[in-house]
Amino acid sequence: MSAWSITTPIYYVNAEPHIGHTYTTVVADTLARYHRLAGDDVFCVTGTDEHGDKIAEVAAAAGEDPRVFADRISNLFRSTWQELGLSFDRFIRTTDPDHVRAVQHVLELVHAKGDIDFREYRGLYCVGCERFLTERDMVDGLCRDHERAPEERTESNYFFRMTRYFDALGEKIEREPDWIRPARYRNEVLAMLREDSGLEDLCISRPKTRLDWGIELPFDPDYVCYVWFDALINYLAALGYPDQPGWEARWGGVEHLIAKDILKPHGVFWPCMLMAADLPLYQHLNVHGYWNVDDRKISKSLGNMVSPLKMRDKYGFDAFRYFLLRDMSFGLDSSFSEEALVTRINADLANNLGNLVSRTLNMTARFADGVVPEPDAAGPLEAGVEAAAREAAREVATRMRELEMHRALEAIFRLVDATNKYLDERAPWKAAKEPERAGEVRTTLHTCCQALRSIGLLLSPFVPDTAAEILDRVGATDALASARLPDDAERWGAVSPGTPTRKGDALFPRIELETGDA
Ligand SMILES: [Zn+2]
Repeated sequence: MSAWSITTPIYYVNAEPHIGHTYTTVVADTLARYHRLAGDDVFCVTGTDEHGDKIAEVAAAAGEDPRVFADRISNLFRSTWQELGLSFDRFIRTTDPDHVRAVQHVLELVHAKGDIDFREYRGLYCVGCERFLTERDMVDGLCRDHERAPEERTESNYFFRMTRYFDALGEKIEREPDWIRPARYRNEVLAMLREDSGLEDLCISRPKTRLDWGIELPFDPDYVCYVWFDALINYLAALGYPDQPGWEARWGGVEHLIAKDILKPHGVFWPCMLMAADLPLYQHLNVHGYWNVDDRKISKSLGNMVSPLKMRDKYGFDAFRYFLLRDMSFGLDSSFSEEALVTRINADLANNLGNLVSRTLNMTARFADGVVPEPDAAGPLEAGVEAAAREAAREVATRMRELEMHRALEAIFRLVDATNKYLDERAPWKAAKEPERAGEVRTTLHTCCQALRSIGLLLSPFVPDTAAEILDRVGATDALASARLPDDAERWGAVSPGTPTRKGDALFPRIELETGDA
């Protein structure tokens, strides 16, 4: 049994949950479900990031206390994930007292080590970025990310002497090529560490005179901590650092999931902070790309953020999460449109999977009194389906280790295809007309019921409600409680003859696309 601590970024409370947050959260949930079924010790964390100028600014604009504002948006994230069935072992907020203690503890360690010093700094500051900009952060005098003019500021601040760790970090990355994955992001981080990248020591304080919405520095009460230095420590605090029993074991198996826009803090700041605090580094940094919507970047101003709750109401959440996992190759950008979603639902879920489930169970009702029939001896065709289940189970295990969820789903759907093809070849609706082929009909339906059990088990981390429904219909309701993947999905004959099955309605009714531009 190995420890798998899976983290999403803690989401900044300046926006409501959209497709980007939902994707990372669904991946975390899917990995957690998979590893629980594989017998691993899983601890899954999400939460909200609540400090900093930006929140103080928007709260002030809304005429609210930042705490009240943060409570509201944080609760919205929490309730959205709950409503969607995405469950976590810890929902951490950077305003939680145990997080504040953990941040101050790390600050004390790093300060005592001599890695924090006090310097005067004069420069151009972007409120959107919450930091001083360098030349390469600007285009025509405007912040590259925020397209607004930075303000000139002089400040005495505390700096984390991060650059002293760049060599050690670069060596770690060279030594362990998949530590930051996929490889393109590893190369990006290596480029950030090069001297010509302009990356310098990190300013980690804000004077209270201009910002008091933050965690106070333990060694200087006139300052609060920079929001990134604060936020990253949530990954430790959520596991119980520094004083709750068991945090070290959980930390030993920590897998971070992030989108590529926050690669620098996670690929550079965070490992340098951990080295400075003499803490072990994370297992992997897993970086995914962006979701575009209708081929455009998502943005508040375009209003194309895609609400996960709306998608659930319209299509069901299993269908939406299936699309997210199936259509994004982890690491690359992908595009969402309702048309693509509907096409995917119809092709994979309604026609392919749904059809297999309904054909198998309708014929079991018709030709076998609704119970899993006693088979005759299996022939090569049956052996082929069994082999397809074994292959699918093993490939899913491999793909999940590499975070290739779309490939894992492809492997499961090869089993669905193989079973559909088998059913077509055996054609029990014809065979049932010839009494001397009754044994063949029983064998065919028995084989399909076994395949449905394997498919249900394998699909469970990806589309949990649908998988539970398939298992229930095929009389394997309890299979998930004791299942161990991948072995259990290969175990043939686990659905005993005589087990009652249930037809039920179509799992995924075909959806007609609304056409025309009205
Ligand atoms: Zn900016």
